[in-house]
Amino acid sequence: MLQLKLEVLTAVAAWAISSACANVPISHDWTRGLCPRGNDMKELAVKLSPTAKVYFPGSDEFELASTRWSVLDAPKVNIVVVPGTENDVVEIVKFANTKELPFLAYNGAHGAITTLGKMNHGIEIYLHQLSSVEIAKDGKTATIGGGTKSKAVTDKLWAAGKQTVTGTCECVSFMGPALGGGHGWLQGHHGLVADQFVSMNIVLADGTLKVLDEKSDLWWAINGAGHNFGIVTSVTTKIYDIEHRDWAIETITFAGDKVEAVYQAANDHLLKNGSQPAGVINWSYWMNNPDADPNNPVILFYIIQEGVKSVDPVYTKPFHDIGPLSVEPRGGTYTDLAAWTGIALSSPPCQKAGLVNPRFPNYLESYNIPAQKKAYDIFANAIRGPSAFNHSIFMFEGYSMQGVKEIDSQSSAFAFRDENILSAPLITYAPSGPELDEKAARLGNELRRILHDASGRLEIRSYVNYAYGNETPRQWYGTERWRQARLRALKQKYDPKGRFSFFAPVA
Ligand SMILES: Cc1cc2nc3c(=O)[nH]c(=O)nc-3n(C[C@H](O)[C@H](O)[C@H](O)COP(=O)(O)OP(=O)(O)OC[C@H]3O[C@@H](n4cnc5c(N)ncnc54)[C@H](O)[C@@H]3O)c2cc1C
Repeated sequence: MLQLKLEVLTAVAAWAISSACANVPISHDWTRGLCPRGNDMKELAVKLSPTAKVYFPGSDEFELASTRWSVLDAPKVNIVVVPGTENDVVEIVKFANTKELPFLAYNGAHGAITTLGKMNHGIEIYLHQLSSVEIAKDGKTATIGGGTKSKAVTDKLWAAGKQTVTGTCECVSFMGPALGGGHGWLQGHHGLVADQFVSMNIVLADGTLKVLDEKSDLWWAINGAGHNFGIVTSVTTKIYDIEHRDWAIETITFAGDKVEAVYQAANDHLLKNGSQPAGVINWSYWMNNPDADPNNPVILFYIIQEGVKSVDPVYTKPFHDIGPLSVEPRGGTYTDLAAWTGIALSSPPCQKAGLVNPRFPNYLESYNIPAQKKAYDIFANAIRGPSAFNHSIFMFEGYSMQGVKEIDSQSSAFAFRDENILSAPLITYAPSGPELDEKAARLGNELRRILHDASGRLEIRSYVNYAYGNETPRQWYGTERWRQARLRALKQKYDPKGRFSFFAPVA
């Protein structure tokens, strides 16, 4: 069987080498290493499990596995290796190190930070076969494969009467958000996605597989700066009995001239100086919706509540009183939330449509009303009518924060536990060269600067998983000197050669 697999692989390698070399920029390392010699693939293949796969450029499988959500400064890979077991990741990393080839974990491929573009050749380690959710007998933890999607986790747990904090979007992986902390619907009760972790299997830069738990010095860094330290092949995480099956939402749509009133109401009746109840979430999007308003972007305001069949009027009435264009109440269960908020598997944000999708994140404590108005006016002008940016969205995510704030801020590399709102313009457009890229970056940075200047903070506080790529490590991982020093020391200890430095490098 193994012999057969090797023959297939060797044949495929020989067939594909010319296209691999022709299509991708080739570094000196690459040309003297893997590319010209099919024997290299044989050398790797004998070490992999029978379920591992290798895809070459030119094949549909390669295309599917390497297509990304945002095409701006996307990493370039020459080959895709799909581990079938956790040990396969060990072998791939060791092989890459021997051949001096860069490598990068691909999971949901929604990472959009421009630092990824520094990978101009190398091996994609596509994790999607490491997809599994095993619930422990005591019902208190689950072990999740490193390539499992959030939806698979939610669905498996839900069927067993359980749940845990995951990212909200169905197409994003479980681990991708978690490595930067991870925001989700249930964080008001339990904290971030990574706050739930009990232990994990991780392949370090030197190719060793380690079991980490809170006793490891690396544990602190994995929660917030995890992309920098290894490939997580599986993680054991806390799970909880479902407390509330019912969830409800009101989608309230406003014309743009209500922007000041809407965000004043959000400050006064939802955020309330950071005391938004654990089971209440507010999200809003500014976006074009010509049916609702042909001239200006609308404000789509979501108020979400757990444990009810319709959202309590105490939260919604102040918004009804402003005079919305429409109000749409819905009731259902936790598993409906992604579809209601437009981030289900079939929703537009989950599609890989060849678009450029940079975001410019900025955490806020509360809404500054004049700044919201100023940002709205600039955003509306920039995305109106036939603008190349007319599918852009300005996102304001007001998750409940109690569970996040209850955890000691010093206990993990996630540095922004005091914040209440995650704001980010998402400037979406079809690729059209550097001029348009620069225009989009100018717009996104300007919008972020307006909100930041009004916040009174010295530094932008940027959620690393939404980051554009022009931020500094202080802006991703916190300004405190001790945080930066601790991250640099751990990097030096665990990844001195900087193998994991494509996604928001700590130094
Ligand atoms: C539509 C959409 C919805 C989103 N919703 C949320 C949300 O609700 N909450 C939230 O917090 N964030 C959310 N995000 C942001 C999300 O956290 C990041 O985009 C994240 O990087 C996506 O992970 P991925 O696995 O899909 O992407 P990938 O590009 O595959 O992964 C991103 C990076 O993570 C690293 N990585 C991935 N898996 C592993 C692993 N197993 N071990 C080690 N490294 C790994 C790699 O460095 C990789 O470059 C959303 C993004 C999008 C586009």
